[in-house]
Amino acid sequence: MLKRAIVVVQEHLKAAGLYSGPAHGIADPATDAAVTRALARRQAEIPPGALGFPLRRRLVMMLQLICRDRGIPSDPIDGYWGQVTQTAWDSLVHLMDHGRLPPPWRDREPGEANPNGWPRDTGDQSAMRAFYGQPGSPPIRKVTCPWPLRLAWNPAERLTHIGVHARVADSLGRVLAKVHAHYGTAELKRLRLDLFGGCFANRRKRGGTSWSTHAWAVALDWDPARNQLTWGRDRAALDAPDYDFWWDAWEEEGWVSLGRSRNFDWMHVQAARL
Ligand SMILES: [Zn+2]
Repeated sequence: MLKRAIVVVQEHLKAAGLYSGPAHGIADPATDAAVTRALARRQAEIPPGALGFPLRRRLVMMLQLICRDRGIPSDPIDGYWGQVTQTAWDSLVHLMDHGRLPPPWRDREPGEANPNGWPRDTGDQSAMRAFYGQPGSPPIRKVTCPWPLRLAWNPAERLTHIGVHARVADSLGRVLAKVHAHYGTAELKRLRLDLFGGCFANRRKRGGTSWSTHAWAVALDWDPARNQLTWGRDRAALDAPDYDFWWDAWEEEGWVSLGRSRNFDWMHVQAARL
């Protein structure tokens, strides 16, 4: 059992007046006795005979009850550290570290709308070629960004426009206008959405052999340093609830976030379906 989990149990026992030793993460005899006293108060919630279970299993039961008391699903209260308990523990740690539970990301399915009829980027990419032409030399149109942008890899360099494929320019303009109207310049800066990671790049997919959607200039990267290619939602900054409106604005126009859909490359949003 994790030392920090034992510390959490000990702090809980101290707060309940059942334990007066240090919260040092060591399951010593004083902790053992205190866990039994605490579980004895909650026998209706634990299996019959649970007070006689091995200490490790009683500690896990105690932790499951602590999670339950905070509204974190941890059933059954059985003292086994399986997937449910692992998820409950992760939520409890998030609560302790950030003062709130992690957002229920499974509820936030990416939108299905595709009002502009963006093509699918699959297989031999023939749908991409049919819609956007050959990769590597897209017809670029410049779209004004309503807030000042900086190049992510060289923040001293300012940008006022984003060059994208002409067929996505109007849609991009609508997304940017909507986002700016909602957040405002200062908040967009605070959210690091002024750090632009680029659009057109004549290259293959990283870690793949087909053409990157960047080769058609129909993909944009945002704040790459905090949303790295291989990072999932446990690390990527763009998964936070503050960005819900941001993603909704893109998805209403049919753009696809690889982070929201596939949980990698959170920096990347594209006018192509999966
Ligand atoms: Zn990208």
